[in-house]
Amino acid sequence: MQVSILASGSKGNSVYVELDGTRLLIDAGISAARITRSLRDYGVEPQSLDAVLITHEHIDHVRGLRTLAKQYHLPILATRGTLAAIDGGAAFEDDMRGITDAFSIGDVIVRPFAISHDAADPCGFRIEGSYCCTIATDLGVVTETVQEAMEGADVLVLEANHDADLLRQGSYPWPLKRRILSNRGHLANGDAAWALTRMKKHPRKVYLAHLSEENNRPSLARDTVQEILASRGMTLDIESCLPEGGAGVVM
Ligand SMILES: [Zn+2]
Ligand SMILES: [Zn+2]
Repeated sequence: MQVSILASGSKGNSVYVELDGTRLLIDAGISAARITRSLRDYGVEPQSLDAVLITHEHIDHVRGLRTLAKQYHLPILATRGTLAAIDGGAAFEDDMRGITDAFSIGDVIVRPFAISHDAADPCGFRIEGSYCCTIATDLGVVTETVQEAMEGADVLVLEANHDADLLRQGSYPWPLKRRILSNRGHLANGDAAWALTRMKKHPRKVYLAHLSEENNRPSLARDTVQEILASRGMTLDIESCLPEGGAGVVM
């Protein structure tokens, strides 16, 4: 399995996962040109992707989708609610496939799971084969459903959006702060950590993702999570994703 973070954060998100011969792009929140360049850095041609999975319609997850669809005509998979809510989505309607439940692509099973976020019908993805990777970002709260989807993952891409104190004291207007802090907003470093402490099988690698550039720091996110894990006698291999991506693992 290869998991490569192409971009992460409020300016754009995209993750490449290759498992058992199936090549998937999760979200296309940066320009198609950047996605193409980043994939080629890993020796992957965009037209060889089996599908593009979209978590939800926010611009930081679909910015490059229209151009990507136009250039490569890849199957674009998302919940019906997300597909209907994608701005300008009519332009690539023919490539869209609505998903409701688990489905297989090649030898891989993809299980979408509901997340709590202020979008039409957002989801995370659990990708299962000889290894398992779960991607859970853009969630205000770790529900039981999310916790279950995390369990047993070898690689976990988990949101650690903000430090709650930095956010409260920061310069964002109150309505925006309230939105981020709400159950349908974004996950705080501490909440990500507590979710990790509840995992029975420890993941081999955890990527803290979708870090706020205003209300978080890569080192702060990692240290906060490690401290909480340590208080429970846990150590995990944890890395904070940078906006420009670059993190990744092959196993
Ligand atoms: Zn979002
Ligand atoms: Zn987002």
